[in-house]
Amino acid sequence: MKAVVYKEPFDVAVEEVPDARIEQPTDVLVKVTTSCICGSDLHMYEGRTGAEPGIVFGHENMGVVEEVGSGVATVRKGDRVVMPFNVACGFCKNCLAGRTGFCLTVNEGFAGGAYGYVSMGPYRGGQAEYLRVPFADFNCLQLPRGEEHENDFALLADIFPTGYHATELAQVSPGETVCVFGAGPVGLMAAYSAMLRGASRVFVVDRQPDRLRLAERIGATPIDYSRTDAAGQIKEHTDGEGTDKGIDAVGYQATVPSGEEQPAMVLNTLVESVRPTGMLGVVGLYVPADPGGPTEAAQHGQLLFDVGRFFEKGLRMGTGQANVKAYNRQLRDMIISGRAEPGFVVSHRVPLAEAPDAYRHFDHRDDGWTKVLLAPGT
Ligand code: NAD
Ligand code: ZN
Repeated sequence: MKAVVYKEPFDVAVEEVPDARIEQPTDVLVKVTTSCICGSDLHMYEGRTGAEPGIVFGHENMGVVEEVGSGVATVRKGDRVVMPFNVACGFCKNCLAGRTGFCLTVNEGFAGGAYGYVSMGPYRGGQAEYLRVPFADFNCLQLPRGEEHENDFALLADIFPTGYHATELAQVSPGETVCVFGAGPVGLMAAYSAMLRGASRVFVVDRQPDRLRLAERIGATPIDYSRTDAAGQIKEHTDGEGTDKGIDAVGYQATVPSGEEQPAMVLNTLVESVRPTGMLGVVGLYVPADPGGPTEAAQHGQLLFDVGRFFEKGLRMGTGQANVKAYNRQLRDMIISGRAEPGFVVSHRVPLAEAPDAYRHFDHRDDGWTKVLLAPGT
């Protein structure tokens, strides 16, 4: 089968790989209809994770069940399903508590598993014609058959629940003010989720004009950090206090498009932008410091966080991979009932063969390339 394979930094190719197949009785095999490119793929694509060449990318997957293992009870051939990016067992301590991003079974020695991701277990990605789904009864979310809402439903694999998770980590309540750093797909989904939860005002910080326009379109106040002091602006809009809650949807970015160094300072700006005793939800991904890393920032990445200021303001913070399964059913039903249309972030839907080009555009943050969906089989 054909799949998107990582070659070296800034290079992926669509190549023939061994067919995905059922390996355990609890697996199903899914014929992929949509697999999205994610900002998380860019950490590997840009070479900051030490990913081995040959990895098949793709953790945001949906499709139609092609074959069912003998131990699967509820999923049938022909079902239309979307899978959380987390691979989870459903029966360990963390899964039983709803913390499926930190499954203790699927990826020994690490916290949680995922498809197509370095250090997240032996699970091949779904930017391919077929995908093996382990513990299928637990990991498949059923969707209405047909082709309706394909783009909206595909976002249930990761970014819609992840944006929602950010608001859950920050415990966004009705009437509160929220600032979101990053107007990438995840930040936009966090801003959208904050509004679904009744936030009175949402500020979105980025410097990409097309992404800031999208933020404005959903009713947020855009703030361009390349033109102004973002924390200062946010304080000005909130009687000098800062917002009640804050979200980091940027994470560690080793480089920005101009090539200049961009260390992990967004967290410190976030601390400045939120009022004392406020709460932060951090879903932007921070890769552990790599002593042999390519840049000084990579070597010291997480040490740049000003814990003193964080303490002084009495802030609280939640972090980590989203527990997609905790929200995907409810968010699916909001899509079905017409209460949510997350697909507004989707800018491109292209055949698998165009993946190398799509990666380049998305990585460069080229104008209008907000969220790219790959459609194998087209
Ligand atoms: P993206 O790279 O498309 O978006 C990041 C955005 O941040 C870009 O628009 C960029 O211009 C902006 N940015 C860069 N530096 C900034 C700064 N200093 N201030 C404000 N904005 C800044 O990626 P994405 O798909 O939106 O993902 C965002 C982050 O979320 C990534 O780190 C990704 O790995 C992470 N992520 C985490 C989870 C999770 O479960 N926790 C899931 C999905 C993605
Ligand atoms: Zn993702």
